[in-house]
Order: sequence, then C-alpha cells, then structure tokens
Amino acid sequence: MNNTMTAVVYDEPGTFEIREIPVPTPGPGEVLVKVLAAGVCGTDLHLHAGEFGPTYPLIPGHEIAGEIAALGPDVTEPAVGTRVIVDNTASCGRCEECRRARPAFCTALVAQGVNAPGGFAEYVVASANRCFVADDLDPEVAVLAEPTACVVHGLDVLNLQPGSHVLLFGAGPTGLLLTELLRSSGAGSLTVAAPTQSKLDLASARGADNVVQIDRNDMSTTLDTLRAIRPQGFDVVIDATGSVGVLAETVDLTRTGGTVFVYGMAAEAAKWPISPYEIFRRELTVKGSFAQQFSFDRAISALRSGRVSADGLITHRFPLHRYADALDAVRDSNCVKAMIVPGL
Ligand SMILES: [Zn+2]
Ligand SMILES: [Zn+2]
Repeated sequence: MNNTMTAVVYDEPGTFEIREIPVPTPGPGEVLVKVLAAGVCGTDLHLHAGEFGPTYPLIPGHEIAGEIAALGPDVTEPAVGTRVIVDNTASCGRCEECRRARPAFCTALVAQGVNAPGGFAEYVVASANRCFVADDLDPEVAVLAEPTACVVHGLDVLNLQPGSHVLLFGAGPTGLLLTELLRSSGAGSLTVAAPTQSKLDLASARGADNVVQIDRNDMSTTLDTLRAIRPQGFDVVIDATGSVGVLAETVDLTRTGGTVFVYGMAAEAAKWPISPYEIFRRELTVKGSFAQQFSFDRAISALRSGRVSADGLITHRFPLHRYADALDAVRDSNCVKAMIVPGL
C-alpha cells in the first residue's frame, strides 16, 4: 500500500480539489477501508453549495462500500479483505436524543462525508462496529445500502396501513427504492408521478400500479389525471422531490384521515402554504422522515433478498478525478444513480 492516496477535498464551499494526501491510520476501534464504490446523491450537491453543515477540510461521500485494508490496534474483525458497507454516522449515546433512541438527531452526531472524512477517496477510516459484512454483495448493490436504510427508516416513520392507496411524487433513486419497499409493505395500490418517462418505466418494473408523467408546464392536466385515479383522494401522498410546487398539491390529493409524507429534501429556506382548515376538517396528518436510524441491517437484508433490486439504478460510474462530472450527472434528469469508483 502506498503512503498517499487520491481524495476529493473541499477547503470551502463551491470548489474542490483532487488531492494526494496521506492514507489515514486507523486508531483503537477503527479499521481502514479501501473504497470500492461510493454513491453520489443530492446531498452532495447541497454540500457542494456549503449547505447541510459541512466541516472543512471535507472529503465528501457518505454512501460507502469497500474492503477492509487494515485493522486498528485492538481490532480483530472484520478480517482484512472482508467486503463491508460502512454506516457513515456515529452518535454519542449520551445526549437526550440518543437516550430517546433518536440517534440521527444526536447533538454530537458525526456523519462521515458531511462533518468527517468520507468515501470519495481511495481509503477511509471507519469504526469497526459500524462496518456491515457484505462479502456476498456486488459493490454496485452494496453501495445502495445507505439510501435504502433511509427509505427503511422512512417506512418506520410512515407506519403504512396495509391496503392503503399511495401516491408517490418522484422517481429518482429514492423514489424507486420507496416504490419497491412500499409495494412489499402492503400498499393496496401505488401510483408514481414524475417528469422523466424512463424513470417511470423503472417504477413500473418495480411494481407501481399506475405511473403518471408530470408535465411541469401544465400541472393542472397532471392533477386531473391523478384525481381520476382516486377521486376520493389517496390515503398517503409522499413527496420525494423536495419541490415546493409538488408539496403545494399534496394536501388536496390526500383523502380524509390520510397522511402527507415529506420525504424529499427541500431547500432550507423554502416555505409551503398549508390550509389549517383542511388539516382540521379532514383530520390529516403531516409527517417527515430524515436520514436513517437502526435501519442499515434491514436495508442490507432487503438488498440481499432482492426485495430491493439494484437493477438499472446505477447509471453512471466515475473515477475520483472526474468528481465534477459525477456532480453534473446528479443534476441531469436522465441519471438515476451515479457512483465514484476509485479503482476505475
Ligand atoms: Zn445520499
Ligand atoms: Zn447523542
């Protein structure tokens, strides 16, 4: 192993360098992971813009699949050479949120790729007990564990009643993972609405009963189509787009007693007008879901069993020195999921 490695490094928002830096040394309780693949997602665009609380210098990359390359002083497993998926978050265990089993809200949360070194590098140090053994999973499957863990947590929060009629806005990687897991979680019917036909085709292949192409220039036609599918409204309406224009329509499309579920990440400053009268008169519930909690293990199970299929999700692969192209791919509506492959 060389003493230096290539990494994507930000010293400030908006600009990064592909830099040669020392390979980090694992300390007690830690392992050195050779990165095989690291997923790029919308969060990385927010980090590029300096949003989401980055700490500098920052090596981004929070969706990490790799191979154990070295063990810290007191660590005996996973053995060197084991393929692993890294849970990028570590909570303190002592704050009020941790003690209420809400580690994603830990006041001292360490999130690799956000406020600690992440996976857009040849190597990354991780805590041994946050590595999940995944020798049986292809890196292109393993790399989906983190976004899948977020979706599994979302389903924990949603607490879907079997038989519910669900409308999902968004068919990006998250929307497609949601499609598959909603279907296997007992949705009575699932309608997916999104602007890109190729992604709607993927949603159909993953079990959506109806797909509706959103015409951004003529939202009223789209809404008429959705109302025709469920004239009395949907039991659950999920936004996985973060778009205020979409959120603005969710309450009207929700059935009496139903739930609006905010899953997409909107801009921090965005606001969305809601009618309190409608919430009151029709006994609606508004819920949100952020990140993952105690859900990595179940996400990996779903990938292992094929309940969540990786087919068609990874559309773009880039070496580290093409990180700018990877960010452009995430901005492109034809890209489903991009990943960095340091060995490419
Ligand atoms: Zn992500
Ligand atoms: Zn804590």
